[in-house]
Amino acid sequence: MATLSLGAASILWAVNKSNDVSAERQLRMTERSIRAVVQELAQQQEMVAIWDDAIVELGKSPMDLTWVDANIGVWLSRTFGQDEVYILNDRNEPINAVIDATRVSNHEFERVREGIGDLVAGIRGISNSLHKDHAVAGAEAPYLITGRAVHDAHLLELLGRPAAVSVMKIVPESDAVPYPHDREFLLVGIRYLDGNFIKQISERNLIEGLRFSVVDNPKNGEISVPIRSDVGDLIGYFVWRPELPGNRLLKAVGPATALAAAIILLLLGVLVRRLKKSMSALERTVLELKASEAQAHHLAFHDVLTGLPNRALFEDRLNHAIARRQDGERIAVMMLDIDRFKHVNDTLGHPAGDSLIRDFAARLSKLVGGDDTITRLGGDEFAIVQVCTAGMEQPEALCERILAMVHEPYDIMGNQIFVGTSIGLVLAPDAGTDRSELLRKADIALYRAKTEGRNCYRIFTPEMGETVTLRRIIEEELRIALATGEGLEVAYQPQIAVGSDVIVGVEALARWRHPTRGYIPPSQFIPVAEQTGLIVQLGEWILRQACLASQRWPDVFVSVNLSPIQFRSCDFADHVISIVRECGVDPRRIELEVTESVLLDEECGTADALRTLRIAGFRIALDDFGTGYSSLGYLHRFEVDKIKIDRSFIQSLGQGTKAAAVIKAIVSLGHAMSLTVTAEGVETEIQKSFLHAAGCNEMQGYLFSKALTQEQFTRLLMHSSSKEIQCYVGGSSAFRAG
Ligand code: C2E
Ligand code: CA
Ligand code: CA
Repeated sequence: MATLSLGAASILWAVNKSNDVSAERQLRMTERSIRAVVQELAQQQEMVAIWDDAIVELGKSPMDLTWVDANIGVWLSRTFGQDEVYILNDRNEPINAVIDATRVSNHEFERVREGIGDLVAGIRGISNSLHKDHAVAGAEAPYLITGRAVHDAHLLELLGRPAAVSVMKIVPESDAVPYPHDREFLLVGIRYLDGNFIKQISERNLIEGLRFSVVDNPKNGEISVPIRSDVGDLIGYFVWRPELPGNRLLKAVGPATALAAAIILLLLGVLVRRLKKSMSALERTVLELKASEAQAHHLAFHDVLTGLPNRALFEDRLNHAIARRQDGERIAVMMLDIDRFKHVNDTLGHPAGDSLIRDFAARLSKLVGGDDTITRLGGDEFAIVQVCTAGMEQPEALCERILAMVHEPYDIMGNQIFVGTSIGLVLAPDAGTDRSELLRKADIALYRAKTEGRNCYRIFTPEMGETVTLRRIIEEELRIALATGEGLEVAYQPQIAVGSDVIVGVEALARWRHPTRGYIPPSQFIPVAEQTGLIVQLGEWILRQACLASQRWPDVFVSVNLSPIQFRSCDFADHVISIVRECGVDPRRIELEVTESVLLDEECGTADALRTLRIAGFRIALDDFGTGYSSLGYLHRFEVDKIKIDRSFIQSLGQGTKAAAVIKAIVSLGHAMSLTVTAEGVETEIQKSFLHAAGCNEMQGYLFSKALTQEQFTRLLMHSSSKEIQCYVGGSSAFRAG
């Protein structure tokens, strides 16, 4: 009897505890979503508010409304779901008004004028002090160097509804447009936090029946949270029915317990053996419920952001796995991180970074087995320990599945983001059985995966331990090669116009044939050149070679890869211009390939350098598009002429991924912005016809040709016609590795 009462009490206690933990979690998620939306508004506005063109267009009389719709108000509303967008002139009068992605009469602004009056007044007031902080010393017209516009964003009540409002000044991005001191246009963005917004967070955070209410009237079983404006006024309440896992548990075990009790009473003394059996079932139930108490304590061993085991727990599990390892069993330790995570964080803000980490963790969790442990080591670094008994999935297969799954786009605060991952894998006992030694080796393998092009996994081998020395050797010998010119060459890979198969361009690619070590691929020496700064000299040499070669091919453009490191020297653009002039080449025939990291680098006038180069006539191509930050909306702000879709997308075509949809989206967005779209790494006829149908303009890949020597390419051009490209390349001894 005593056991029965104890059982019932424990059940009720555990039910409550489990309910509390869950409601608390939902509360935190809701609060976080609300805070994030205010920041998101400001980030969205930044895309258009620091922009020379915006100032020029808004200043025109009459204003070109089609332009304003396509680039500011209607665009913000349609792309990001901002409910209302207004542009105010220097007298705070509305000159453009948009509600639900439709331009409306400017009078509509009067509905909200009073509600946001303080914000508008505030931003006009704070402007001067902020300018001083951000201004470049000595510059005549202060301009913002941080990329953050002067803005103010708040949570407040508008028309009886809770709303996030952000007001931002529209300011120039360069000296080309004079800074309109105290006469700035203001951009106002409003997002109501009821209606659609509620639907979104309730779906995103799996919160059932979330609604907004002006009065505090939760029904039975619902809870409510007050929402206050930034000045503390009560706006209303978010009300929802919390997930009550404890109640579900009670429903499940309650009847069983009652039945057990009845049986006990009925058969007491008569069916002793049966009684014993029932009792043990009941004890198990009690034990299980105790475990859910332990679950609450477990929070201490888990990462708050992802809910994954934290490092302490992970190391403990790894120790156990090593200690309990049976003969023939292997233990795999994987270390992985998100490629180019920093860009997401730097450009979309920390809430976006957090959200990416959570999604990434959730995807990983779905892939690993119940006995495996995943942890977040910190930042964007994760580790997995997997015990592999005979007949189980091998760690290599798990790595492959992780790579494929990570590649699917992420939907982060309304942006489509593509990231990759690099994985370092180490196996015990092959590589030792010491915990910290295994982690160190997994880290070395991870480093190797990253230097070998990212988005791949590498298994630790003892020679990797020597990598550090190898890097030093490469550095020394590259220095010598650059000084003597021995072994360095440039290879040329044709680029073909879609439809006609005519060669329209050629990409210059660095090649290094070492006198004793043989062919060293760019994936090995370019990273070393970047780490040591030798890339500056190497890049210059390649540019010069490519310019000289281009004189032999007057009908095609030549594209040259530029490393982000090269942009760090402040007179880089002038230097490029003078090299091309010295070679007597028209810059309009040279295309410069840069990666997104160059566009997003806010230091040392990178944006200025790009603009200078473009004004000088060079075309700018965005290389490896899709592998980095790649928010499509972001493109809008940069001056590029072409995007090159990364070959990993082309190669994932037909493999059950979303590659086809992503490629189509990139092409249509690229065309909407009047950009040329090139596909890289085209290897098969099937890929070619898909890309043709999708509307790509140019293609490059082994299907047409590998990279060739200057002579081979010259001959190819001479014979060039669609059929001959194929024949020629089929029989050529092109450069190794393309
Ligand atoms: P990238 O700029 O994306 O160059 C294209 C790479 O894809 C080249 O590799 C090319 O040979 C390879 N490729 C072309 N078609 C195909 C195909 O159909 N299938 C496959 N699987 N691959 C194909 P490569 O020459 O090994 O260069 C690798 C990377 O090294 C380049 O990628 C670029 O990031 C860097 N690199 C090469 N030359 C230079 C250079 O002169 N300067 C700088 N900064 N980086 C360079
Ligand atoms: Ca390239
Ligand atoms: Ca590329």
